Amino acid sequence: MKIPLLDLRAQFASIRQPVIDAVIDVLDSQVCINGPRVTELERAVAEYCGVPYAVGVSSGTDGLLAAFMSLEIGPGAEVITSPFTFFATAGCIQRVGARPVFADIDPRTFNLDPSGIRACISPHTRAVVPVHLFGQMADIDPIRLLAARHGLDVVEDAAQAIGATYEGHKAGSFGKVGVFSFFPSKNLGAAGDAGMAVTRDPALHQRLMLMRNHGMEPKYFHKFVGGNFRLDAIQAAVLLAKLPHLDAWSEARRRNAAYYTERFAGSAVTPPFIDPRCGTVVNQYVIRCPRRDELRRFLEDRGIGSEIYYPVPLHLQECFRYLGYKRGDFPEAERAADEVLALPVYPGMTPEMLEAVASTVLEFYD
Ligand SMILES: *Cc1c(COP(=O)(O)O)cnc(C)c1O
Repeated sequence: MKIPLLDLRAQFASIRQPVIDAVIDVLDSQVCINGPRVTELERAVAEYCGVPYAVGVSSGTDGLLAAFMSLEIGPGAEVITSPFTFFATAGCIQRVGARPVFADIDPRTFNLDPSGIRACISPHTRAVVPVHLFGQMADIDPIRLLAARHGLDVVEDAAQAIGATYEGHKAGSFGKVGVFSFFPSKNLGAAGDAGMAVTRDPALHQRLMLMRNHGMEPKYFHKFVGGNFRLDAIQAAVLLAKLPHLDAWSEARRRNAAYYTERFAGSAVTPPFIDPRCGTVVNQYVIRCPRRDELRRFLEDRGIGSEIYYPVPLHLQECFRYLGYKRGDFPEAERAADEVLALPVYPGMTPEMLEAVASTVLEFYD
């Protein structure tokens, strides 16, 4: 049995016709950039997240970039974030001319540890960017309190966490702005690149709307320099057709995760820790395991896909050498990079597939 890390063909088959119809509608209308489907998706995502505003953007990366640009975070500013995340989080901080400042992670959740943030705050700090990694929200309350006390903006990198909750409230609704990715491997995936920024702030909403279109208002008059961060109407139509199924798909991921976690009890494998205040959407099921690279090869030889998210923490990336960090600066992020392994958890996995993955992992340690 071949089990890839991610295979969404069965999921697509279940919604094939409505997605095709929605795409053909867009093609027939020939409104291909922004337009009514994008507006409709923005309303739907804002409502889903319990916030008043959402702005469709071309990707999660562009959403983060547009957010930092809209908050006028630039040269001279410092932005605190996690070193254990996808590259875009820190890449966008650097691209606006600000300095990424890393704080270590909580070893249980892999998310930014609030207790490490305070020591990183300087007179230049402008914002904190918690990342809701693998579909579970960071410990947002203390982060929000600390940020408020120091006058910092919170930008939630919620790329992996649409639908995740903290004390019942949705990811993206806590910060000044929250950013989602609709990259196909995220829980709500487009047929290509797409993203969304959500906010409660009407002024920031206005600014984001202009920012994604070269700061233009009215046509050919530019208030400030923005970019082309627009969302394609075809992507919006695909996402609108999929959104009503998102919660059921995330529930399927949670069921698959619960099965693994039960099977791994008492084994050498450490299953993901679920913070009791958090509702996770399990974008990835990530275990900590001894002899990780050997386990990965063992699984691969038996047709089972897995992935290391992420093998090199950002403070040790070549492009961030100028920041002056060294190995040992963030021991938990470094240890996580050496020990984590993501297993297949996508909706549509059969009980036989789940059983095959779990028993192959356990077989390795026997
Ligand atoms: C996927 C992801 C992004 C970037 O989103 P794209 O849509 O791929 O540009 C940013 N941050 C995190 C944590 C992600 O997982």
